[in-house]
Amino acid sequence: MKESGYVILGSGVAGLGAANALQEEGIKPRLYEARPRPGGLTSSYDAGDGFVFDEGVHISFTTNPRVKELFAKSVDDKFEVGNVYCNNYWQGHWIKHPAQVNLYGLPADLVVNCIMDFVAANAVQEPVINNYEDWLYAAFGKTFTETFPAKYTVKYHTTEAKNMTTDWLGPRLYRPKLEEVLHGALRFEPSDVFYVNEFRYPSHGGFESFLNHFFPMADISCNHEVTQIDTKARQLSFRNGSTTSYEKLISSIPLPKVIPLIKGAPKDVLEAASRLACSQVVVVNIGLNRPVEVKPQWSYFYDDDIPFARVSHRGNLSPGNVPPGCGGFQAEIYFSDKYRPLTGKPEDWIEPAIDGLIKCGLIRDRSEIVHQSCMWLPFGNIIFDHDRPKALATVHGFLDDVGVRYCGRFGDWGYIWTDHAFLSGERAAKGALRGVKTEAVT
Ligand SMILES: Cc1cc2nc3c(=O)[nH]c(=O)nc-3n(C[C@H](O)[C@H](O)[C@H](O)COP(=O)(O)OP(=O)(O)OC[C@H]3O[C@@H](n4cnc5c(N)ncnc54)[C@H](O)[C@@H]3O)c2cc1C
Repeated sequence: MKESGYVILGSGVAGLGAANALQEEGIKPRLYEARPRPGGLTSSYDAGDGFVFDEGVHISFTTNPRVKELFAKSVDDKFEVGNVYCNNYWQGHWIKHPAQVNLYGLPADLVVNCIMDFVAANAVQEPVINNYEDWLYAAFGKTFTETFPAKYTVKYHTTEAKNMTTDWLGPRLYRPKLEEVLHGALRFEPSDVFYVNEFRYPSHGGFESFLNHFFPMADISCNHEVTQIDTKARQLSFRNGSTTSYEKLISSIPLPKVIPLIKGAPKDVLEAASRLACSQVVVVNIGLNRPVEVKPQWSYFYDDDIPFARVSHRGNLSPGNVPPGCGGFQAEIYFSDKYRPLTGKPEDWIEPAIDGLIKCGLIRDRSEIVHQSCMWLPFGNIIFDHDRPKALATVHGFLDDVGVRYCGRFGDWGYIWTDHAFLSGERAAKGALRGVKTEAVT
């Protein structure tokens, strides 16, 4: 391997994607990570009592054959393969996901109103869509929108649908035909139209094991939080007092964090970076002394009196995530500085999460809990609000000008999954190698 002036910031899957592309060219980059261990959002934690927790539910549903093969190589082909099955909880009812084609079992009045409004919305010419709320009303009608996706939007994206654009939707929200809505209202589980089908998950060690293959591809220095980037001198300073120089810099650090680190960043760019909104997540981990006998890998929640938006079922991802005869959950509660700041400390949400799990019946009794802990993810999902497009163009334009390559979920600032974050890192590295500009992914 050549001694390298290539430096990567951030050791999540994007940083490792960049390392992968460089090692293919015989280059071993230096990689700096703020936290004590590499892996970023794809880190997994062995709790020491037989439970393994990820940073919120992570499965790989990539359809990219090369990424599939690389992830499989990381775990010596020891992974679980499953069909994605998830469901929704609403006021005491469990229905399959997506709810719009699985209304069967809900109160009759609600089902009738959902269908009548769906028919009315789809009988008129498509209105002008100015925001996500407009899109929801046009696609699903009033009753369904206000009962399900509008509620979920506030819980998951932390803001109302009218504050969001629609450029992130892609296949994420299924827009059904009337026939599908009717079939789903009249019989149990008629169709499979969720945008994710098959998934893979490592048999052992949690999701992070999918990255094992990549860690040796870079000289990784943990506990190296970058505190200043001097793009003229090509020098980095770290919180631990050390400094280093670089020739080519690839960053996966979240944009609102990286811009203030750049020496001399202009006021308008700093201001644009501060307008980029992202959710934060409190993840509450629960271990039970009995198996969790439910089918889904994860479930969505809409009720106001339940704090979490989503719960994953650890043992349904891999039996290796829980001790024999036990079960586990992760409940995700969303906040954001811009729209719903965290109240209290992350630990304060453990008890409300347990209350919610009891309310919906996933926990029968507190006495069956053998593990409880929580994690705080300061960067969760990009919020596609109306400020994002203009602010992002300003920030990316500046990074292009000062020669900082950006990648990953928080460098591209897109709604991207692990596979796209990996590919984004590769693309940024290839752009650096060839000296060409690369496009961000949404
Ligand atoms: C709750 C949740 C569930 C998800 N579920 C799935 C799923 O099921 N499947 C899927 O494919 N994707 C999922 N994703 C998305 C996936 O986690 C991301 O797309 C991917 O992990 C992003 O990787 P990244 O490398 O871009 O960012 P990160 O993993 O966040 O890496 C950025 C790194 O930069 C480091 N850093 C930050 N500041 C500094 C600094 N100043 N100096 C040095 N280092 C710094 C951070 O510590 C971090 O390690 C989920 C995301 C969340 C939040």
